[in-house]
Amino acid sequence: MSSTPAPRGPVASPAAREEVPVVTTRPLVVAVDGPSGSGKSSVSRAAAAALGLAFLDTGAMYRAVTWSAMHAGVDLTDPGAVAAHVRTVALVMGTDPAGPTVAAVVDGAETDLTQAVRGAEVTANVSAVASVPAVRSDLVLRQRTLIESACLAPESGRRPGMVAEGRDITTVVAPEADARILLTADESVRLARRARQDLGAADAAALEATRRGIVERDRVDSLTTAFTTAADGVVTVDSTHLDFDGTVAAVLQVVERATGDEA
Ligand code: C5P
Repeated sequence: MSSTPAPRGPVASPAAREEVPVVTTRPLVVAVDGPSGSGKSSVSRAAAAALGLAFLDTGAMYRAVTWSAMHAGVDLTDPGAVAAHVRTVALVMGTDPAGPTVAAVVDGAETDLTQAVRGAEVTANVSAVASVPAVRSDLVLRQRTLIESACLAPESGRRPGMVAEGRDITTVVAPEADARILLTADESVRLARRARQDLGAADAAALEATRRGIVERDRVDSLTTAFTTAADGVVTVDSTHLDFDGTVAAVLQVVERATGDEA
């Protein structure tokens, strides 16, 4: 048996009954920023799934451009060369929160980079690439386009809109988002979470090995993007004392308060 969802838009008047009603669901855009290890990626994915929305990991875009520049032998210390390269990179973002992907056209063929962009070398170089203004303006435009198309032409079965996460989504990419959240956690907690995730342990050696990828990367990133304090209208969710489910629930509560939308 099929059921038709109740229209949320204006109800057609009796005189217009013969016309096919256009059932519209208002798009919902949720912007999430935060430092490394705050859990913003996994929490945003879960929130997107709960809300029926698409999901965009903008960090994966910066990582894919970095991977591509390294693959092409671009000198990453030369901002002009990096800026020229970003314009040549065709990115394909998979925005299903159940399995987000990133691909690029490499040597004429679409190549999945979802795993490759997580490599240590990409992680070590991504901040330098992301600090090039031409890279930022190029990717910000692409991110806005992806958000807009998720609002205007959502994939079948998905609610129009998107949860987008990164460093500058609440402030630069989508300052008009319906809900804007800064997800934080104390540095020691972020380090321990990331060490457990990457190395399976949070002992002294694992923490030290993880420190560079978190503390140093955030230090360099914070020279170009403001993601350590919430801008006006951005709600801070501090997950220091929350587990994963508790953090997702806190994010959904912010969305609900901001928009009246329940997951
Ligand atoms: O979130 P993730 O660790 O994958 O991000 C990788 C890098 O991409 C960050 O360290 C930062 O340099 C850059 N980035 C950015 N702006 C964003 C998202 C990520 O500069 N919106």
